[in-house]
Amino acid sequence: MDELSLLQDADERARRYVAGADARRVFPEDSAIDALERFSERLPDTGRPDAETLALLDDVGSPATVASNGPNYYGFVVGATLPAAAAADRLVLAWDQTASSFANSPAAATLEKVAAGWVLEALDLPRESAVGFGTSATACTLICLTAARRTLLKRHGWDFDGEGLVGAPPIRVVVSEAVHITVKKTLRVLGFGTNNLIVAPVDEFGRVDPKRLPALDGSTILCLQAGEVNTGEFDPFAEIIPAARKAGAWVHVDGAFGLWARASKKLKPMTEGVELADSWTTDGHKWLNTPYDAAMAICRDADALAASMNSDAVYATSSSDSQKNLTLEFSRRARGVSVWAALRSLGRNGIEQLVERHCAQAQRIADGLKAAGFNVLNRVVLNQVVARADTEQSTTAIREAAQRSGTIWFGPTVWRGQSAFRFSVSSWRTTDAHIDRAIALMTRSWSELTPQNAASPEVAPS
Ligand SMILES: *Cc1c(COP(=O)(O)O)cnc(C)c1O
Repeated sequence: MDELSLLQDADERARRYVAGADARRVFPEDSAIDALERFSERLPDTGRPDAETLALLDDVGSPATVASNGPNYYGFVVGATLPAAAAADRLVLAWDQTASSFANSPAAATLEKVAAGWVLEALDLPRESAVGFGTSATACTLICLTAARRTLLKRHGWDFDGEGLVGAPPIRVVVSEAVHITVKKTLRVLGFGTNNLIVAPVDEFGRVDPKRLPALDGSTILCLQAGEVNTGEFDPFAEIIPAARKAGAWVHVDGAFGLWARASKKLKPMTEGVELADSWTTDGHKWLNTPYDAAMAICRDADALAASMNSDAVYATSSSDSQKNLTLEFSRRARGVSVWAALRSLGRNGIEQLVERHCAQAQRIADGLKAAGFNVLNRVVLNQVVARADTEQSTTAIREAAQRSGTIWFGPTVWRGQSAFRFSVSSWRTTDAHIDRAIALMTRSWSELTPQNAASPEVAPS
């Protein structure tokens, strides 16, 4: 098969896959998972025909995917893919650019620069900030914290690039008690040591308590969060950040999904003061509904990020705002183009509507679960709902039954010592009708698995 026919075949298969998004089983059947055995071939000595490789991928791979690009997936905080972003990424694949600098790809460099400006505008963060398009919030947090440490050490007269950490003045790190695991991971990878992290206690909602905030100084990195992963809560930035920066600390905010609340006039007040931080991380592939992998490392001091991530070589020098000087990668795909396309297709109002709709839908789920007798454990301030049945056993049983049904998927969690489950509404495809179907399923499941509760569903178990 020639190249263009093969690509056409791939496009048709991709279209068929997307067309089935609504009806697809959300988690694959056991038989589809068993069939993955067919991929366990020996590396062939002689290459196989392209069309056969593509057919195998689709015939065996597609049925064993998780329909997280559909409307019925409430797991983790996984968005679907907006049509414009998915389509743009298809074209970007055909371009196959090394989106490192203008010299590598004028188109990619220009589009990512525009996307960077739009991201700052949509999130209302300082317009002078540098924006690096990295693979994930994890990688982008690593980038920001690297720049943070280097900058604090520089203020102490220490040459981190030359001397590294041997003999360097100590840098302390304060993290929220509810810090995301990936922030801890980056700190571990960077050599801070998880035992050395200073923990800022949180209140009942999972927000850092300003009254119990550990002391901060010019040798401290403070990690806050916009959108706690269970509850969607925001740390009280306005109370904390001005004082932290006055003390000379570097404030980093993990806003993997929650920062997008700033696109909504209604929700933005919850995030007030977050714009005063030094650096921020956010994902495109969660709430903005871009394809994987697209995330952003945002740093107020553009030079600090560019100096930290610089990879100019004699054969590859470029401006300090080249993406290869803002992220870990030297060769990289033009992932910022999908962000550009998503933002352009939604517009300011579209992002606001998406975010507000998801929050309203989360509230609808919470109300529906409460009416069915479930305990909703969080106040629903964003797109996250944490709930449980009366016991750990029934909570698990109901979640597993829902997952087995193949009609929805949501994951387990633990909130304040109680095992629970978590719904995250993050897909542009999810309509109120999908939400109502999910509630109906949960209500049925509750009465089937805990018949003693079915008689008086309005009485919430204590
Ligand atoms: C998902 C998430 C992360 C990690 O993001 P990745 O893009 O998966 O690396 C970090 N923090 C929060 C709050 C998250 O929800």
